Amino acid sequence: MRWDKDAEKELKKVPFFVRGLARKKVEEHARSLGLEEVSMELFMEAENSFKAVMAGKSSDELMAMMPQPNKPGTSMLIIETCQHEMSRCPYVLTNTWEIRETIERWAQHDDINERLRRRVESDIILYHNKFRVSISACPDGCSRPQIADIGIIAFVRPRLNMDTCTGCGICVDACPDNAIHVENNIACFDRQRCQGCISCRDACPMGSISLSDVGLRVLAGGKLGRHPRFADTVGEFKDIKDAMEFISKAVNAYIEESSTSERFADFWVRSRAGLNLAQQQEA
Ligand code: SF4
Ligand code: SF4
Ligand code: SF4
Repeated sequence: MRWDKDAEKELKKVPFFVRGLARKKVEEHARSLGLEEVSMELFMEAENSFKAVMAGKSSDELMAMMPQPNKPGTSMLIIETCQHEMSRCPYVLTNTWEIRETIERWAQHDDINERLRRRVESDIILYHNKFRVSISACPDGCSRPQIADIGIIAFVRPRLNMDTCTGCGICVDACPDNAIHVENNIACFDRQRCQGCISCRDACPMGSISLSDVGLRVLAGGKLGRHPRFADTVGEFKDIKDAMEFISKAVNAYIEESSTSERFADFWVRSRAGLNLAQQQEA
């Protein structure tokens, strides 16, 4: 397969560890179109779909997933966000970049990367040695916060205007969590079941449902691997500044008190009660 000079130049900008794979995918795409040369236009088209397949991860995020030498400066904290910007998702409730930046500033201040790295005894840092924080901008949880060390999910609370509710029940069908029923011609909300999205508000023909300010639900202790587990819901917080006290306490306790090979989820399970880390706050 021939490559146009500009396309070849552009390929060199792709991170080296996925460059071979990117070349292969672009050439496959060209062949599927019956072409014998990769033009700049074709490269951009194929690169965009390749990025989508890689879930929109930045080169820094992709790099963080590769094995790395255990030496000062190695990134140990992986912060993933759902891809609401790339997909122009209509369900987004909050700005995930602000949350991410707050966590990054805290990590820098508390030297989290380096302290996590020093826990690892082997010469190579693998993906499972790293600490993963996953942020989703709505309860759909596309970034998979349920299997992260720390998960953060934006949510809202529905509020009903009883004066305008007709009890039509349209919101009952719209709720993905079976959290609404109608009683005496009024919609009733089950707070335990409600995940806090916008579906009922959008469905109500009377405009009877409004939404609270956005809060953050924080989860801890999820993981995949040989013994997978879903993270526990720790509490609901007003915003990321409010949640940072818990996150900082949990991560610092893990760094200071866990054994070197212990994953955060295992530390969390054996220590959560004794550490008195769980807290509930009204968002
Ligand atoms: S988690 Fe919610 S806001 Fe984020 S991409 Fe998924 S549906 Fe959209
Ligand atoms: S859809 Fe609106 S008007 Fe109908 S029951 Fe629900 S809240 Fe009331
Ligand atoms: S906010 Fe979402 S989960 Fe909660 S009651 Fe409304 S539709 Fe159901």
